[in-house]
Amino acid sequence: MIIVMKPRASDKSVDAVIRYIKDNGLQTHLSRGEEVTIIGVVGDKTKLSEENLLSYDEVEKIVPVTESYKLVNRKFHPDPTTVDVGGKTRIGPGILTLMAGPCAVESEEQLLRIAREVKENGATILRGGAFKPRTSPYSFQGLEEEGLKYLKEASEETGLATITEAVSISSLETSAKYVDMIQIGARNMQNFELLKEVGRTGLPVMLKRGLSATIDEWLNAAEYIMSEGNHNVVLCERGIRTFEKSTRNTLDLSAVPVLREKTHLPIIVDPSHATGHTAYVPPMAKAAVACDADGLMVEVHYDPAHALSDGQQSLNFAQFAQFTRELRPFAALVGRSF
Ligand code: PEP
Ligand code: MN
Repeated sequence: MIIVMKPRASDKSVDAVIRYIKDNGLQTHLSRGEEVTIIGVVGDKTKLSEENLLSYDEVEKIVPVTESYKLVNRKFHPDPTTVDVGGKTRIGPGILTLMAGPCAVESEEQLLRIAREVKENGATILRGGAFKPRTSPYSFQGLEEEGLKYLKEASEETGLATITEAVSISSLETSAKYVDMIQIGARNMQNFELLKEVGRTGLPVMLKRGLSATIDEWLNAAEYIMSEGNHNVVLCERGIRTFEKSTRNTLDLSAVPVLREKTHLPIIVDPSHATGHTAYVPPMAKAAVACDADGLMVEVHYDPAHALSDGQQSLNFAQFAQFTRELRPFAALVGRSF
């Protein structure tokens, strides 16, 4: 449930309600807007008396929250959240955050070259996989810690924030030492132990949608992270599995407005993994901006034909430069810039 306080309720009244809830063994989440103050309640609400709550000063009403996700819920937090990434960039209203880089970190030179180029074209977050969750065990599995060192070095040189995927608790512990943001990939969206652990790191997390996950399952997965105290969560739509074979996955852009209604968390769209084809990345990126995504994740490589993974969906440098040039007016139309 949420408790909506009267407009401009005093701290004293808000504190009294919070104390009553906590004294009964439940947790609270306070959202103080300019006009409205909302106290979200997490826990067994049968322990609370609605009658008692309504008798507190300046309580306006009690609204039940029927969804199983609470902290993620827009009812708990009506204003959109802005996530800060390592003090280097932000994801949220008014900004179009561009995450770009190779699918996999392949070498020091490869990453530095790509980092400089994507920075030049407006990206603020460098992506690069060091632990690669490949479909086949015989495909390149990533440089692991060596790759993370290159990410840190590229960040130090360019000022870009960095994101990499953690595929296990041990890779998470190692990654947390080197990067600004952790990605949980589609294949691990419901790896609940990993979600809890990434919730304990406090680092910003980008949670990708599972290959066949519903939006509610995805939001519940985000709740796992937030329930450990980490509120820096960003969601990433990366396509879902359907019967269609022309694209690698089917980009579910309707997820963006649906999420916007259900959650206050920022939303990123990844047209690279969604389509699996370089040519389809720019149009779907523009469509994502049109439906008000907070940012994009795009794979970039100077030599896609020789990339160690996902070359077929990577933009080369000329394509990326043209892509960002064309994207700016779309961003401006929805009141965002990069
Ligand atoms: C990736 O971004 O490197 C990746 C593997 O994506 P996904 O988890 O969406 O397949
Ligand atoms: Mn990839």
